[in-house]
Amino acid sequence: YNGQRSNAPKSLGMSRRGVRGNFIPPVRTNGGGGSMSAGYATAPRGSAEGLEESTRKCLELLVGPDGELPDKLKNVEPRLIEHISNEIMDQDPNVRWDDIAGLEHAKKCVTEMVIWPLLRPDIFQGCRSPGKGLLLFGPPGTGKTMIGKAIAGEAKATFFSISASSLTSKWIGEGEKLVRALFGVASCRQPAVIFIDEIDSLLSQRKSDGEHESSRRLKTQFLIEMEGCGSGNDQLLLIGATNRPQELDEAARRRLSKRLYIPLPSAEARAWIVRNLLVKDGLFALSEDDMRKICDGTEGYSGSDMSNLVKEASMGPLRELLVQGTDINILRKDQMRPVMLKDFQDALLHVKPSVSQSELGLYEDWNRQFGSHS
Ligand code: ADP
Repeated sequence: YNGQRSNAPKSLGMSRRGVRGNFIPPVRTNGGGGSMSAGYATAPRGSAEGLEESTRKCLELLVGPDGELPDKLKNVEPRLIEHISNEIMDQDPNVRWDDIAGLEHAKKCVTEMVIWPLLRPDIFQGCRSPGKGLLLFGPPGTGKTMIGKAIAGEAKATFFSISASSLTSKWIGEGEKLVRALFGVASCRQPAVIFIDEIDSLLSQRKSDGEHESSRRLKTQFLIEMEGCGSGNDQLLLIGATNRPQELDEAARRRLSKRLYIPLPSAEARAWIVRNLLVKDGLFALSEDDMRKICDGTEGYSGSDMSNLVKEASMGPLRELLVQGTDINILRKDQMRPVMLKDFQDALLHVKPSVSQSELGLYEDWNRQFGSHS
C-alpha cells in the first residue's frame, strides 16, 4: 500500500541529472499571473517549463490562490513532490470502520481523539485540543494499517502512507528531503493523515548498524517535522504503526502521545472476518456450530492469518472438482459448492498463527507501561 513500485534503491537526481534533475526552485517573476507557468521565472536551467507535464500538474494542484507554492514547498524538489502526490498520497483509501473486525476500544478512542477534532477543529481547541501524534502498536496483521486508512476515510482527510523502512532503504541519502516534501505536501492537503508504518525503524533507540550521518539527519528531520505537526491550527495527524514498540526511544514516545494497543482479534472478531469474507463472495454456508469450531481452532491467529485461512479454505471446493477431473477451462462458478467446515480443517493444517505467545507477552508489558488506557 505504500505505493512503491520497485524495490530497487532510488538514487534520484544524484547521478542522472535529467531535465527534472536540473530544476532550480521556482522564483516568482514580477507581476506574474495566477498560473504556474506564468508565475515562475524562466531562467535557463530552472523553470516550470523545464518540468515534465505530470510534474507540473502536481505542482499546480498545490499552488495557493496567490499563484505561489506554499513556503514549505518552495525549496522542495518537484520530483519529490510528484512522488509524494502520485505514490504516497491517497485521496480515498476506501476503508471504513465497518470493514474492521472488533477493536471497539481502539475505534472509540480514535473517534474521539482524532476523527472529531479533524472534522470540527473549531470545537477541539484549548482544553480539548488533541495530541497530534498517535501510535498504533501490536502484533503484525491486526488492522493497524486498516485503522489508519479508516481514520482518513471517516474524517474525510487525505491519506499519506509510507513505510519508514523504505525511507531508510530505498531513499538512501534522500530520506530527509522526502520527509520534508511529505510534510510539506500534507500541510497543503489538510485535513491530512500521515501514516508511517514500521515507525520504529526511523525512531529506534538503538544506534542502527554504523548509524551514519544520513540516517541521523533523517531522524532529526523527522522529529522536527513531528514537532511542527502539533503547532498552530494545522489539521494534520501523524499516525505511527509498529510491531516493535520496545524499540522506540523516549523522544519518540513523547511525540506520539496517544499509544493504542491493537491486539489479536477476539473469537468474535475472528468469526466476523470469516463470515464477512465468505459472504462477500457468496460462499458462506457455515452453521453456528461450524463457526464455533473454526473459532476454537484459531486461538492466537491474527486478522491477516484469518484472511489467509479463508483464502486457503476457499480453494477446497475448487481443488475437489479438479481432482475429480473437471477441466479448469470449462468449469462454471456455479458448479462449486460453498466453503465447508472440512475446508477450514484442511486449511488449518497449512495456515499457522504468525505471532507467538512469548511475543504477545512483550506487547502486553509495553502496553501496561506506556499504553493509553482511556
Ligand atoms: P497491520 O498494519 O496491523 O500489520 P493490516 O491492517 O495491514 O495489519 O492488516 C492486514 C490484513 O489483515 C488486512 O488487509 C485484512 O485483510 C486483515 N485484517 C487484519 N486485521 C483485521 C481486522 N481487525 N478486521 C478485518 N480484517 C483484518
